[in-house]
Amino acid sequence: MVFSFQQEEDCLVEKCAVFGAFNAGPEAARLAFYGLWALQHRGQESSGIVSSDNERLHRHAAPGLVANAYREEDLEQLPGTIAIGHNRYSTSGAAEGAHSQPVLRSEPQLALAHNGNFPITTAMEAHLKKHGVPCQKLNDSEMMTDVIHTFMQDGYDLEQAITRAYPLLEGVFSAVAMTADTLVAFRDTHGIRPLSIGTLGDGYVVASETCAFDTVGATFLRDVKPGELIIIDKNGLRAVQIVSGNLKLDIFEFVYFARPDSMLLGRSVNAVRQNLGKELAKEWKIDADLVVPVPDSAIPAALGYSRATGIPFEMAIIKNRYIHRTFIRPNAQMRQQDVRMKLNPIPDLIRGKRVVLIDDSIVRGTTTKKIAQLLYDAGAKEVHVLISSPPVVYPDFYGINISDQTELIASRMTPTEIGTHIGADSLGYLSYDGMIRATGMPASTFSTACFNGVYHVSTGTRIKNVKHAVHA
Ligand code: AMP
Repeated sequence: MVFSFQQEEDCLVEKCAVFGAFNAGPEAARLAFYGLWALQHRGQESSGIVSSDNERLHRHAAPGLVANAYREEDLEQLPGTIAIGHNRYSTSGAAEGAHSQPVLRSEPQLALAHNGNFPITTAMEAHLKKHGVPCQKLNDSEMMTDVIHTFMQDGYDLEQAITRAYPLLEGVFSAVAMTADTLVAFRDTHGIRPLSIGTLGDGYVVASETCAFDTVGATFLRDVKPGELIIIDKNGLRAVQIVSGNLKLDIFEFVYFARPDSMLLGRSVNAVRQNLGKELAKEWKIDADLVVPVPDSAIPAALGYSRATGIPFEMAIIKNRYIHRTFIRPNAQMRQQDVRMKLNPIPDLIRGKRVVLIDDSIVRGTTTKKIAQLLYDAGAKEVHVLISSPPVVYPDFYGINISDQTELIASRMTPTEIGTHIGADSLGYLSYDGMIRATGMPASTFSTACFNGVYHVSTGTRIKNVKHAVHA
């Protein structure tokens, strides 16, 4: 979990979400709305939808949660049976909606929504410069859209334009793009971010996570393969493998990002998280009375740990479900209370108990420290913290938006020192091998850059500032 009030200061952010619908119902924008609603956990800064009435593209985007970004009138202004949508995270500028997606271009019309990022933009910038497109003010999604757009201006259709632009896209992308009559879903060669296809009625939907299919009543068809283009138009769905893929899904999707009711690579995220807890139980035997998860992300791992050890599970920390990102800054008094705004322990369950507190990850170390203190304040006799993933030692240029390695507590301190820093009786991390075992898949399936410093997608010169990191 993360404290929403702090996100702006801490720059700890989540992934984006993309959604697409093609002839899956009479009102594609409404489907996109509910799809994005299901994908809210991947980005809360702004939300946007572009729809097509088969002739023109229509766009609406606004800051905030999906529930607040659209009014009934807004959806009525998004006619047609083709749509793409996006939930965005960001650390600055988002309140003004400056860079909200989907990005929309005209002459010819093109809309694009993208999850991922481009550590290197040199090739895209050089291409845009050659075509006289100013790119100083563009973010990476806008740049990507403009590169594809230049090929469309040269007369190529959407599929051809993406194929031609593809070699210039040096980064991580799971994207959906559309014109007035075609929708294309595509993924980078490593498939770092997820993207799946579902069927609904006579049409198709595409989403960052399969939980969105359940929400809109679609049936999972398959994942978009790394290096593949999925073209959906009036003739149905076509797949073109434009470059050979080498799957490296970000393992952090299993650890933290994805919703537990999603399927990734055919595996239930919930089941893998429970396995992470079971692996923790093999590695860390603790004399304790209670297993308590940090809600909500660590609940499956804590259940897995409790079942494997026989130590009773209790939801002894309650999360306020109605705290969302707010643009109202807390004052000094409320800042002191920040953890209590979101999480509150149940002292009756905790008093006098030896507690195993389970969380999915430690990034900077602030959250765990505060939660351990909450438990002591509520009368816990002992607090033993277990983390259902290994130490995050390397910045994740494809995801967690911390590009400065020194901000990661595990890059500066050993697990023992981190244990002392957070003030718990003990601290244990899951081993790298334990994490891989929990997925039931070989390590070669994943990008584990933030744990082992092996970067499969080039980070350019950024890697120079990362100790002991390598490009694969
Ligand atoms: P920290 O206080 O920086 O150590 O944050 C760790 C907490 O943030 C854990 O409870 C995780 O569930 C959560 N978390 C991990 N990665 C991210 C991320 N990229 N964005 C938001 N929260 C995260």
